[in-house]
Amino acid sequence: MSKVVKFGGSSCADANQFKKVAEIIHADTERRFVVVSAPGKRSDSDTKVTDMLYQTYALAEEGKDFSKQLAAIEARYNEIIKGLKLKLSLKDEFAEIEKQFKAKAGKDYAASRGEYLNGVLMANYLGFEFVDPKDVVLFDDDDSFDAEITNRRVSKRLKGVENAVIPGFYGAYEDGRIKTFSRGGSDITGSIIARAIHADVYENWTDVSGFLVADPRIVDRPQPIETITYTELRELAYMGASVLHEDAIFPVRKEGIPINIRNTNRPDDAGTWIVESTAKKSKFTITGIAGKKGFCCVNINKDMMNSEVGFVRRVLQAFEDQDISIEHVPSGIDTMTVFVAQEDFIDKEQAVVSEIHRLAKPDLLEIESDLALIAVVGRGMKRQRGTAARIFSALAHVNVNCRMIDQGSSELNIIIGVESKDFEKAIKAIYDIFVMTQL
Ligand code: ASP
Repeated sequence: MSKVVKFGGSSCADANQFKKVAEIIHADTERRFVVVSAPGKRSDSDTKVTDMLYQTYALAEEGKDFSKQLAAIEARYNEIIKGLKLKLSLKDEFAEIEKQFKAKAGKDYAASRGEYLNGVLMANYLGFEFVDPKDVVLFDDDDSFDAEITNRRVSKRLKGVENAVIPGFYGAYEDGRIKTFSRGGSDITGSIIARAIHADVYENWTDVSGFLVADPRIVDRPQPIETITYTELRELAYMGASVLHEDAIFPVRKEGIPINIRNTNRPDDAGTWIVESTAKKSKFTITGIAGKKGFCCVNINKDMMNSEVGFVRRVLQAFEDQDISIEHVPSGIDTMTVFVAQEDFIDKEQAVVSEIHRLAKPDLLEIESDLALIAVVGRGMKRQRGTAARIFSALAHVNVNCRMIDQGSSELNIIIGVESKDFEKAIKAIYDIFVMTQL
């Protein structure tokens, strides 16, 4: 058995957290490959090293003095070195970083140094080999991540290696220039390594004990999710449940490797298992609830719309031409509604409206704003009758008007549209009916 273990920013924020990481790794010899983020926040008011690097590089780019800011970053690493009594100096590394900043080596290079240096430290502390992802994680010239070549390079590089530390978050173009994933991208690196070495498990260690059925800022102490499928997670992540980077499931999914989300500060908690498919029933009919505010909808009316060939396409064309992505399109006989993110739409709304008129000649068109979408997700819903009825009655009881309902064709999710002001109330009511009263 072999496991890839990824530790997030808060798990390696200081020397004390490094000690917890080492304890976790040493507790299980199968934990062979370690992926690290840059040091994160030590307290709520702290700044992540990645953010410090972006800020410092911004000064460098403007040709301003950045020595104080760079020294503050060096101090964070030195504090870890001192706390762990490591015999290691990053003096040369920081001299090189300063040189590269002055030469304007790029924002991605700058940000990647957080993970790079933390990897150097962690490898030294654990006595593991250090593998630089710039040599194995490849980006193509169009900025897209090259999954297949990367997979081959990583497996070749790690063949015969017993233990290694690999910094997360970045790779490089073929010419060696550094490129990062989007924020939180170390989760993707962990998944890439797990796929390449055919790991049995990808453990993702963070500061929460896995996914919760609902957002703890809305629901008081929500239940944890023990097992969730990749597809359920995609639905919830898209709607804002953020424990893992959205794209992190793709590499492991190709190999059917489960992800186990764990808590560095509570290593005995079982965490959440993210799997391809499972015979395990979720504890409740639903697996999770997530949602987002900030949507608009455009209601379009036209008599006999359903018999007009190409009507829907013409309406959607107007959105495509303005480069606006569409969230949901519920429709009736003479009506259809298009849900879009308010921030993408607001500046282009009049252009879209006139184009819909030109292309589709509707009888009536109306825009509504300040809507929220809530996704109720669960593999168990398919086999259960009355799920939608329960959602409706829960909302009716708390006086929330349901503006839209859209059941995905996989029957894995039900999306509900409510007014933004009712968002929290609606989530609480849905949580209560499925989890608290289990009616
Ligand atoms: N350090 C990077 C960030 O703050 C990447 C990561 O932590 O995964 O986004």
